[in-house]
Amino acid sequence: MPRFSDDQIEEVRNRADIVEVIGAHVRLRRAGRNFVGLCPFHNEKTPSFSVNPERGFFHCFGCGAGGTVFNFMMRLEGAAFPEVVSTLARRYGVTLPELDAPGAGAASNRGERETLFRANQTAADFFAHVLWNTPDGEPARAYLRTRGVSVEIAREFMLGFAPDRVASLARALEKRSLTAAALKLGLVKRDAAGTHDMFRARLMFPIRDGQGRVIAFGGRVLGDRTPKYINSAESPLYSKGRNVYGLYEARKAIARADRVIVVEGYLDAIALAEAGFAEVVASLGTALTADQLRLIGRLSTNILACFDGDAAGRKASMRAVEIFLSAGMLGRAILIPPGFDPDTFVKQHGAAAFEALAASARMLFDYFLDAQSALAARSLGDRARAAERVAEMLRMVSNPFEFDLLARRAAEAIGVSEDVLRRYVRRPALRRAGSETASSAAAPPRIATRTGNAGDTAEAGLVAIAILRPEMRAELLTCVDLFEDEALLHSFLEACSIEGPNAAAETALVERMTDEDRARVGALAVGGAAGLTLDTLEEARALAADFVAALSRRRRRRETEVQRREAAAAGARGSVDDAAAAAQALIALRRGGG
Ligand SMILES: [Zn+2]
Repeated sequence: MPRFSDDQIEEVRNRADIVEVIGAHVRLRRAGRNFVGLCPFHNEKTPSFSVNPERGFFHCFGCGAGGTVFNFMMRLEGAAFPEVVSTLARRYGVTLPELDAPGAGAASNRGERETLFRANQTAADFFAHVLWNTPDGEPARAYLRTRGVSVEIAREFMLGFAPDRVASLARALEKRSLTAAALKLGLVKRDAAGTHDMFRARLMFPIRDGQGRVIAFGGRVLGDRTPKYINSAESPLYSKGRNVYGLYEARKAIARADRVIVVEGYLDAIALAEAGFAEVVASLGTALTADQLRLIGRLSTNILACFDGDAAGRKASMRAVEIFLSAGMLGRAILIPPGFDPDTFVKQHGAAAFEALAASARMLFDYFLDAQSALAARSLGDRARAAERVAEMLRMVSNPFEFDLLARRAAEAIGVSEDVLRRYVRRPALRRAGSETASSAAAPPRIATRTGNAGDTAEAGLVAIAILRPEMRAELLTCVDLFEDEALLHSFLEACSIEGPNAAAETALVERMTDEDRARVGALAVGGAAGLTLDTLEEARALAADFVAALSRRRRRRETEVQRREAAAAGARGSVDDAAAAAQALIALRRGGG
């Protein structure tokens, strides 16, 4: 990856006015010191998206998105940090002279990315040439015929074939001096015997970005060899879980139909496109991520995701509810009858039958409610558990109208009064440390403003100050042992170790935070919920002192509690000495604590 110096990145941040950059995508209006507007990362009708120009920070109280101007562009464009820095640098006239990357000579960052794109495009052209114009391509052409893929659709998706030869792509790339780029992209590998092709005897599916540039490949065997699919490795151009297959090809159809059908595999997408459903994309074999949904959601929020109609598929649709809600969307599920996938279904039953499935697709939330209502019917305890689960989901719904609608349906489905359910929703969510969904999905939207005890808020507040007030980092470090939350402690230490204002490090830190922490820190950073004032160093110091005091009180409460329990335990054991010692310690603590 190309590197810029911290000074250059800092200059880009200073010149790129965050209100102007975000204002190009979001209609912003002034509200006090902040600007507010409708969040581009989730679907909402009342603005919960704030930009604080003084701190150079944005935050959405709805979905928890937040960070620097760089975080905004990364999220919006699904791009990597260096790419965003170069784009903004170009726009704001900052020249970024290149730093020498080891072994890469003095090609500029922009030049390097262009070289990577060129290597991918060369590979795509090579694979297409082999598929259509050589005897090596014949088995693949036959395979496409048996799968019912027309030449027209195959060309539209730029399909190709990697021949079963040791180094034929490698040689083509070599001739154009693209070997270094191809190594970086995982198109070829190098060992003692030389440079050879990574993809062999595979049907090739180029994955393109929003501008139609090839960013990666998927390769499928023609027979039953395993692995059936291999994909390009992560590279400066491609990161798994942030891209979808077919979005470029589908973009016009999506706009026309105002809907997107999401399938899992390449051939499912191609089969649906063949059957006339051009508004189709594939999640590239992984479970859908919130990032992918946001990317798709920029074209249409009317998303229909296909799931297998069997038990495993229903389970997957249950997990998807949360991902959709966290991306600010409801989403509907097309359940493909057991024994079929979208490809085989549309071939056997035809386009009209598939359209009927799509037309009857229910909201994902309804499938979730079905399951909870079945649980609620079992016993009173199960009903409470169902209410808790439903409440947890409802906490993620940021749109008040949708919230009302869903709350009413949910209350009816699980047989509790709407009032009781609403009360459940207002109860703080338990932190699900280590849960996969907690880190992969965005935070429950309301968490930042509605929940969390004083201690958590104070910890998040100290992290916010450490990020926004570089001159206080050294002094803040002294309160490190007051932290209890592992993840926030980690972010805090990282923030305190950044030297001076450093947009690259701060942006990276925000990216690495869990979505929940980003939401909490972000809310404080734009001065929303807590009325945080950080505008002068004195104010920031006073606020930090408040947070430290809150954490110290919590620490003393915990210690007092431990002493009390020890005293009680010692008393129960009848040990007068132990009890006396513990009581003595307790008194000392109270005195010290004030
Ligand atoms: Zn949002």
